[in-house]
Amino acid sequence: MPDIVLATLNAKYPHAAFGLRYLHANLGPLADRAVILEFDINQRPTDILEQILAQNPKIVGLGVYIWNAAQTTLVAADLKRLRPDVMLVLGGPEISYETDQQEIARYADYVITGEADLAFAELCERILAGRRPLQKVIAAELPEFEAAATKRRSDEPTKGEDGFPSVASSLNRFVALPYPLYTDHDLAHRVVYVEASRGCPFKCEFCLSSLDVPVRNVPLESFLGAMRSLLDRGLRQFKFVDRTFNLNLNVSKAILQFFLDRYTPGLFLHFEMIPDRLPEALRALIKQFPPGALQFEVGVQTFNEEVSARISRRQDNAKLEDNLRFLREETGVHVHADLIVGLPGETLDSFAAGFDRLVALRPQEIQVGILKRLRGTPIVRHDAEFGMVYSPHPPYEILQNRDLDFATIQRFRRFSRYWDLLANSGNFRDALPLVWRDASPFARFLDLSDALYESMGRNHGIALQDLAGFLFRHLTDRLGHDPASVAKAIWSDYLRTGRSDRPMFLRPYVADEPIPRRARDASASPRRQARHLA
Ligand code: SF4
Repeated sequence: MPDIVLATLNAKYPHAAFGLRYLHANLGPLADRAVILEFDINQRPTDILEQILAQNPKIVGLGVYIWNAAQTTLVAADLKRLRPDVMLVLGGPEISYETDQQEIARYADYVITGEADLAFAELCERILAGRRPLQKVIAAELPEFEAAATKRRSDEPTKGEDGFPSVASSLNRFVALPYPLYTDHDLAHRVVYVEASRGCPFKCEFCLSSLDVPVRNVPLESFLGAMRSLLDRGLRQFKFVDRTFNLNLNVSKAILQFFLDRYTPGLFLHFEMIPDRLPEALRALIKQFPPGALQFEVGVQTFNEEVSARISRRQDNAKLEDNLRFLREETGVHVHADLIVGLPGETLDSFAAGFDRLVALRPQEIQVGILKRLRGTPIVRHDAEFGMVYSPHPPYEILQNRDLDFATIQRFRRFSRYWDLLANSGNFRDALPLVWRDASPFARFLDLSDALYESMGRNHGIALQDLAGFLFRHLTDRLGHDPASVAKAIWSDYLRTGRSDRPMFLRPYVADEPIPRRARDASASPRRQARHLA
């Protein structure tokens, strides 16, 4: 039986918990006495608890995130009710800020705030040796990766007898990489996260990463060695969680070149990037990747320069546009761009202008996110002036502000969901742009979104055929397009999704059209990306 259970509730089963693997990899001699248990937020808290307690652990470490805070609170409460003797240790970004305001903290014996890679191991060592620290909330020292820390080995500070971490620790001083802990099952069936750096040097006030300073790079040689081993074990889809992959030109070039040299069909790399920095040397490398091999998540957030300045976001919109144009016109990169609704001072009109500007740049996906008040972020300084009202429950989304009332925010919420279903999905690549031909994409899609909600009364669980039927009626009855041309566009979209039936509403127009045998999807990109490519 393990002494230590490391557990978390992932948002979805396929998401492999990166943080837990880091904690386990850094347990040193205690690693053999620990086990990782992963759950997802759709499981019942009592069933989760049953599995944790079946291990009869001495220490339970729970990873608390914005998506699992409510369910994890229930697990923590019942754990301490049933087994008050088990040491409950909490960590993760959600519990790292405003700790004392959270109910879950009441149930914990210890809370580690910040990056707990090394601090968790040190705490476990002390608990198991019967030398429990007195303080409940432990602020983890910023851990270092080996290369950056080597020069400090000789003059590491030593802590006092009751200090933390312990002076006699047999544990690693530097962060060990967690990649060997991904199992073959993980590599074959789950989203595998990797990181070449931590932190972000920018200060966007809504973002948790703005609190992460300084930026630290994982030593390149160790990182690429780990990537080589994952490739050798058969991994083809890598999700980089670096906040600003393209911040350090030499590092980003080396990583891209590494994967380009080892490219085989099926390789897929996801990166988050800052949108206004794509120097020529990086562009030249990006161009060499085949279509569908790279996905860039580009945080645009707002085109409104006054709003950007207000929230301390530095962004050169002209460079951003130039870079997005380059990506769409000269590369095969799948671009996922983000915009945020509800920033202080962003009105419906200014958001609409930004949305239209972004649509003109043709990213394959636009995620319209609702502003969240993440714990610890300084966006709260605008609350009074801009009448910001946030939900007190995770994910703490804005309910209304001075410029957008609750009803308007709700319309945006549906807009976002329907944009995802109709546009981001790639299911209506030919037909959807007809909605805004010669008009504002935002205005036309908002009108569609309102009508779709009125017609369906929901924004989930809508069958593809029903969406197609709605789009057909919207384009013909409401917008007056020629039914035959609309039918042709929808039919082509419908077949591309791999369907082989002929929807009733299309039959008068496509009765004689052949239904091609479904070609095997030769692309190795994830399905949504493949539909945009097809
Ligand atoms: S939004 Fe992006 S650039 Fe701004 S602080 Fe967060 S990670 Fe950094």
